[in-house]
Amino acid sequence: MAYEPFNLTGKVALVTGGNRGIGFGMARALAQAGADIVIWGRSETLNLAAEGELTRLGVRVLAQRIDVSDEAAVVEGMAEAAVAMGRLDTVIANAGFGAGAPSFSEMTADIWRRNIAVNLDGAFFTCREACKHMVERAKAGDPGGSIAVTSSLAAVDGAARNEAYAAAKGGVITMIRAIAVEHARYGVRANAILPGWIATDLTALSQESKVFNEKVIGRVPIRRWGEPEDFGGIAVYLASDASSFHTGDSFLIDGGYAIF
Ligand code: NAP
Repeated sequence: MAYEPFNLTGKVALVTGGNRGIGFGMARALAQAGADIVIWGRSETLNLAAEGELTRLGVRVLAQRIDVSDEAAVVEGMAEAAVAMGRLDTVIANAGFGAGAPSFSEMTADIWRRNIAVNLDGAFFTCREACKHMVERAKAGDPGGSIAVTSSLAAVDGAARNEAYAAAKGGVITMIRAIAVEHARYGVRANAILPGWIATDLTALSQESKVFNEKVIGRVPIRRWGEPEDFGGIAVYLASDASSFHTGDSFLIDGGYAIF
């Protein structure tokens, strides 16, 4: 017999950046656990492909074309999703991108603002709208909900030449801790997930680099790149009642890189 709290049947989970990479790894596991799924991304082609794959798992799926750095689009999209799916129990602000500079001295304001716009502002808009929905529901007598944000190893490790990305990813951790305290009374939990080095489009160049593989991946105690599938377990745990007393935490999932 399966451990019942991990059965997500009847729950709805929204994953931003859910059409590929880590977000898709989380969305697929959530669907396999029985949750209905909403995914957000900017690419219609990727959204359609992911929607098809998730639908084949036998759950209801809604794919929305939304840029998380666009406040109005996030506000409208979240409201639309809640109506279309009936409710949102879990929202994972995972959409992100990384752009660094040859050196910090050469980092332009444009690079800084692009990182902040997607990785910090986008997570803010997403979490705020999710909290709004969950608080309204709690006030109507149905408390509960789980918010998560995908931060990064870059928030705790010195991410040279990526100061803008690191600042955004550090910011989402402190934001989520504040959200956790403020919303606990509504039964809403809020946690951060910090991936280490994961094989996705975001790290495509590093994956091809012999030096990077030797010097960086060679130092990962588990001795491999992380895969999107490695984030299914934490997504299901955080969406499930198994984590009902777990809030304000940061989950570093990096194959042991940070402790070595
Ligand atoms: P990825 O494969 O490049 O996927 C990024 C996802 O975010 C895609 O679904 C993309 O869809 C979406 N996205 C990007 N910009 C967006 C925007 N402005 N609005 C809406 N959606 C947007 O990258 P990933 O590695 O899975 O990254 C997922 C998260 O993990 C990010 O927050 C990233 O910072 C974090 N992370 C990754 C690693 C790693 O090693 N890969 C390490 C630490 C943290 P569209 O292109 O269709 O918009």
